[in-house]
Amino acid sequence: MAMNTVAATEKQWLGHPRGLSTLFFTEMWERFSYYGMRGLLILFLVASVQTGGFGLTDRSAAAIYGLYTGFVYLMALPGGWVADRILGQRNAVFVGGCIIAAGHFSMAIPSVPTFYGGLVLIVIGTGLLKPNVSAMVGDLYPVGSPRRDAGFSVFYSGINVGALVGPLICGFLGERVNWHLGFSAAGIGMVLGLIQYKLGAKYLGKAGIRRSEETTTTADRRARRSLAIGAAVVIGVVAIMIALHATGAVRMNLYDIAKGTGYFMLGLAILYFSSLLLFAKISGAEKKRIGVIFIFFMAAVLFWAGFEQAGSSMNLFSDRLMNRDLFGKTIPTSWYQSVNSMFLIVLAPVFGALWIKLGRRQPSTAAKMGFGLLFLAVGFLVLALGASYAVGGVKVSMMWMIMTYLLHTAGELCLSPVGLSSVTKLAPKKLAGQLMGTWFMGTALGNLIAGLAAGGFEGMGVPELFAAVAKVTGVAGLILLIFAKPIRRLVGGAEDNVDETATPAAATAVREGALPAES
Ligand code: GLN
Repeated sequence: MAMNTVAATEKQWLGHPRGLSTLFFTEMWERFSYYGMRGLLILFLVASVQTGGFGLTDRSAAAIYGLYTGFVYLMALPGGWVADRILGQRNAVFVGGCIIAAGHFSMAIPSVPTFYGGLVLIVIGTGLLKPNVSAMVGDLYPVGSPRRDAGFSVFYSGINVGALVGPLICGFLGERVNWHLGFSAAGIGMVLGLIQYKLGAKYLGKAGIRRSEETTTTADRRARRSLAIGAAVVIGVVAIMIALHATGAVRMNLYDIAKGTGYFMLGLAILYFSSLLLFAKISGAEKKRIGVIFIFFMAAVLFWAGFEQAGSSMNLFSDRLMNRDLFGKTIPTSWYQSVNSMFLIVLAPVFGALWIKLGRRQPSTAAKMGFGLLFLAVGFLVLALGASYAVGGVKVSMMWMIMTYLLHTAGELCLSPVGLSSVTKLAPKKLAGQLMGTWFMGTALGNLIAGLAAGGFEGMGVPELFAAVAKVTGVAGLILLIFAKPIRRLVGGAEDNVDETATPAAATAVREGALPAES
């Protein structure tokens, strides 16, 4: 095994470079704050003003939730760019974390402007932190190190430890004591993560530090100018929209804005893919592979659109239609958010072992994604059935929800890890960065749709809503399975070296931009 990096020869942590522990706990606390707050978000928005909430309708709350979670992932694009061109990943993570903490503390102040301002700060901060902290994990290992994948598995469990504990603490404080105390707890978690990041920085070696050849002053100046122009355009567009709305020139409601944003993102993705297929100077074989990436992109959008309803419609279901009493105590609604992470921590090694055992006989990427969508669909069918018993004020057993989360987690382990890793394998080298960016847009779009779906909670009836999600994702899953073989032929063996699928978490980290395209 090559031990040719500084990091690799230093003190170890769980058999990995010591720096992994620094990044593990940084991301753990960041996810603690993200999922801790997210678990409360829609509940707070729809809670009546008397109970300290905003008293919004389900539709408006769903739109805010969708826009927020969608933009959190979309910001990974500029966040990665800013790190590469201006800040370097090491600083981007720190600055991002500070902005996130400021966002949560802003939400701790009970007022409308501090609430929305806080959400905007978290969106910007997460864009800076999330893609770059994963990228640094890759930096800890020499290229091609066999321990790198295992390192990402450990890192991904850190994500889920945070996602498990966040809702338990922030959710309890927010729901049972005061909403804003829950938001503060999220901020405190992020601060602990930052302190830990600074204290542990000495173990990171050169990870995330920009190389001197990347920091020429002209390139820096150009990058800063582009960033300023980009930010000005975004602020300008938002200002124009607010002005149009305020003057009554255009009447927009939040739901329409969120929907419009979704169509815009989808349109952009379709335009991008078709222009590549029509105009890019690439070979026929490469075009076929890009076509396959588009199919996977759509599969991922649909998957996240269902899966990420955990924090939106499924959260409302737990709140309103489910019996949360256990041993004489009522469990806080947001605690159910932790079930996915709990199952994930338990099941990830099982799936990892399964793929290793199957070796070359394991399903292709398309088939795995198909299975992922089917697991998701069956999960929603279970929930639709459960919801159908919730008539006339009767609350249904929490086992429906727990069963659904079990199925969704199995789906996550089939689909999520192979995502971006397949992009890195299928994309022509010169387009790898762009295509990876498009992949983030898929996650963003999925999250946005997941938010919007919760708007159907008051409109179409809950069993119908969940059944509709099951139908769409189930049909998509079946189509993928039916066409798995032809798709595999289309990519011409590009994915035959499916080694990283042996450790699913590693490839998930790849999906998050952690690994460079050539790995
Ligand atoms: N649960 C994972 C995380 O928070 C992945 C979420 C996603 O990509 N939608 O990092």
